[in-house]
Amino acid sequence: MPVKINENYLLLKSSYIFAEINRKVNQFQEENPDAHIIRMGIGDVTRPLPQAVIKEFHQAVDEMGQDETFMGYGPEQGYSFLIKEIIENDFASRGIELSQDEVFVSDGAKCDTGNIQEIFGLDNVVAVTDPVYPVYVETNVMAGRTGPMGDDGKYEKLVYLPCTAENNFVPELPESSVDLIYLCFPNNPTGTTLTKEQLATWVEYARENKAIILFDAAYESYITEDGIPHSIYEIEGAKEVAIEFRSFSKNAGFTGTRCAYTVVPKELMAYDGAGNAQPVNPLWNRRQTTKFNGVSYPIQKAAAAVYTPEGQKEIGESIDYYMQNAAIIRESLLKIGLQVYGGVNSPYIWVKTPEGLDSWGFFDLLLKEANVVGTPGVGFGPSGEGYFRITAFNTIENTKEAMERISKLSF
Ligand SMILES: *Cc1c(COP(=O)(O)O)cnc(C)c1O
Repeated sequence: MPVKINENYLLLKSSYIFAEINRKVNQFQEENPDAHIIRMGIGDVTRPLPQAVIKEFHQAVDEMGQDETFMGYGPEQGYSFLIKEIIENDFASRGIELSQDEVFVSDGAKCDTGNIQEIFGLDNVVAVTDPVYPVYVETNVMAGRTGPMGDDGKYEKLVYLPCTAENNFVPELPESSVDLIYLCFPNNPTGTTLTKEQLATWVEYARENKAIILFDAAYESYITEDGIPHSIYEIEGAKEVAIEFRSFSKNAGFTGTRCAYTVVPKELMAYDGAGNAQPVNPLWNRRQTTKFNGVSYPIQKAAAAVYTPEGQKEIGESIDYYMQNAAIIRESLLKIGLQVYGGVNSPYIWVKTPEGLDSWGFFDLLLKEANVVGTPGVGFGPSGEGYFRITAFNTIENTKEAMERISKLSF
């Protein structure tokens, strides 16, 4: 018998979107070598690490080279010097109590949001907002929870929760029962948020239906408005039904450095076949201690420096810089009559494509006429059709130049 493949992988649709964007941009650049293309599709930070972080990072690297201070394997869950800072600054400051063994430091929210499904049964019904960060969908495809993709671009067994201008980007509760619900707010790609009341509706749903919310708060630090929850645990009862994912990638520029964490409260329960409640925290602990050997010591030292007063000041300046870009994008596009969403509590601006243009049509137009690159919304799911994502991760000069060029177009 020949070796067998995991056939679930064959159900994945090739992520042709970014390959297709690159192909189109490269072809355009070849045909127009003098064009200065401005890339506004980037989902990656552009500003360097804060000096406060670099200082600790360097020092920790030096410690690794000395007999007395060398560090080998650390705790798989993360060093307590970092976990203490996380709890105190990100949670206790908002009235949320967590104990050290509820926080798991990792090398990324991408891995954690991707890996978390492993500890849940394969027969759970999974719900995702649409459009969506593809990691949630594709890791469930690989695990075998979704079935094949239909002609409508939806995996058969996944429940899609449309988030469009029609419902103000607020997902409605599902009509059929679901078990695992991925929510990301502030949202990538739409840049929109939920109020505390709107998120509380989901917590209530999860409590009533014995479901679990997987809450991705990677963009928490971009929240500028009052009344927007920074953590799902600001909502009463959420600890019993929610796991929260955070990352140092977007707030402190750790996309290339890699550090994040996941909160799994001890009150959180899932059920075995006999209907008995089982705590989830020991399962995630078991999963991590078996498959993961911790984040490197210098990087955890660097991450802890994010919470120093200098670190906070520096990351605040970078976030302000990106949000200034976001405001420029929003205002410029509104001024020329486009409908725009997001960009107030997140670095993403979600643009409704002009009448008669779909996501790719708008992409082609901006590339050819303004030499500006964004991301077609349809790449994030069927409900993203007719939308376009522009990011604030750029220099202010490029952002202004791109908006001037787009403002000269007529739609
Ligand atoms: C960027 C991003 C993350 C962060 O991922 P890391 O692996 O920590 O860099 C998580 N979730 C979403 C939705 C993101 O856009």
